[in-house]
Amino acid sequence: MGHDAFTALKRGSSTGLPTSTITATTTTRVRTTASRGKQIKRTFNNLKLTILCGFVTILVLRGTIGIGNLTGSPDADVDAQKIAEETNRILAEIRSDDEPSDPNEPPEPEINPNVTYTLGPKISNWDDERKSWLAKNPEFPSHVNGKARVLLVTGSPPKPCDNPIGDHYLLKSIKNKIDYCRIHGIEIVYNLAHLDKELAGYWAKLPLLRRLMLSHPEVEWIWWLDSDALFTDMVFEIPLWKYNNHNLVIHGYPDLLFDQKSWIALNTGSFLFRNCQWSLDLLDAWAPMGPKGPVRDEAGKILTANLKGRPAFEADDQSALIYLLISKKDEWMDKVFIENSYYLHGYWAGLVDRYEEMMEKYHPGLGDERWPFVTHFVGCKPCGSYGDYAVERCLRSMERAFNFADNQVLKLYGFRHRGLLSPKIKRIRNETTTPLESVDRFDIRHSTRGGQSGL
Ligand code: UDP
Ligand code: MN
Repeated sequence: MGHDAFTALKRGSSTGLPTSTITATTTTRVRTTASRGKQIKRTFNNLKLTILCGFVTILVLRGTIGIGNLTGSPDADVDAQKIAEETNRILAEIRSDDEPSDPNEPPEPEINPNVTYTLGPKISNWDDERKSWLAKNPEFPSHVNGKARVLLVTGSPPKPCDNPIGDHYLLKSIKNKIDYCRIHGIEIVYNLAHLDKELAGYWAKLPLLRRLMLSHPEVEWIWWLDSDALFTDMVFEIPLWKYNNHNLVIHGYPDLLFDQKSWIALNTGSFLFRNCQWSLDLLDAWAPMGPKGPVRDEAGKILTANLKGRPAFEADDQSALIYLLISKKDEWMDKVFIENSYYLHGYWAGLVDRYEEMMEKYHPGLGDERWPFVTHFVGCKPCGSYGDYAVERCLRSMERAFNFADNQVLKLYGFRHRGLLSPKIKRIRNETTTPLESVDRFDIRHSTRGGQSGL
């Protein structure tokens, strides 16, 4: 129905516009009295012009794309093969680590497994330092219009994905995050670097979060979100007022954590740190199991021995945090808020097949199982070469989640996807001469109570 309305509208508007076509038609009509001879001559001239234009077009096509490409000739195959080979050569070059080392640069020190690894020099007076910096820099306030300044941080490996489609989903994932952040006045950082070579992979977020806290004293909350997690509720906002007395907000279940000691009691794909001394201390306490190689391997054994359901593999950031909070509960837990009243992280497998039902029964803004705030593709490893689930199922599900979210954004512009698996869109409203009515009705920023930036 929406599409038909659009077609009709387009037809209607093109006939009504005062274009040169109308002038030309009028002129032609006046000239119907011209002699037949003149008409034949004009037709002949037009024919000559048409042939000339055709010839020029062929020349241009040959020059730019090569006419052979249009016919699928062997030449085209050779060209396509050349492009593929060149692409593969460049990919191999980027993936290999053969950058010659700078002779003037001192070699990076090897880590000593007998000395506890640290993220950097111990900082112990951050709260005071930050406070006086904020007082000296009133143009960078930590709260804007009464709302805490939030920085969303995400990232992916520095090299191209093992599977090229992984890069496509990284692009969709960052587009989804940019949309959410723009709507809600949140700043965003995308990191592609390993700030500490010891902490690659899922550990890379630790040195990054520390660095960003120290470089952005104006930021009150730093929010890590995995690259394989998508916002699926574009309206919902984190209720920061709930966390006035807490410094770490993470999705999870206290009974799974303390009663069962489960390795999935918390999820480190989405969590928020307050920018304060306590958070720097927690990062310091969290990091020592991270250095790759023997330290990480040995720590993996301790984690598997102590956490329920954990398979045998090297230490990962999630298990390490869970183990730290269980073993040093009294030291840390009073400032940790375990959130499960909405999906700060939502496990994809139970959600992606229910999107149609959600659209029928509910609306964005709820953030919980009725309309999940975040859908996280745990175990899918879209950028890696193997994951815990069938690639096809993961990609289909990610496409559905992306389009489910994108529909909420496109609504302001009067469009939506043709289906949750379709990249194509269709129009859901006619263009109008009073466009501001749509802004008032459909702009998500109007439905969230007092957007942070007044975008
Ligand atoms: N990541 C990163 N740099 C890397 C590798 C991973 O920033 O070199 C990030 C990326 O955002 C990824 C996250 O670390 O989403 C955690 O890894 P993953 O999502 O694969 O783990 P899972 O959620 O499946 O446990
Ligand atoms: Mn993840």
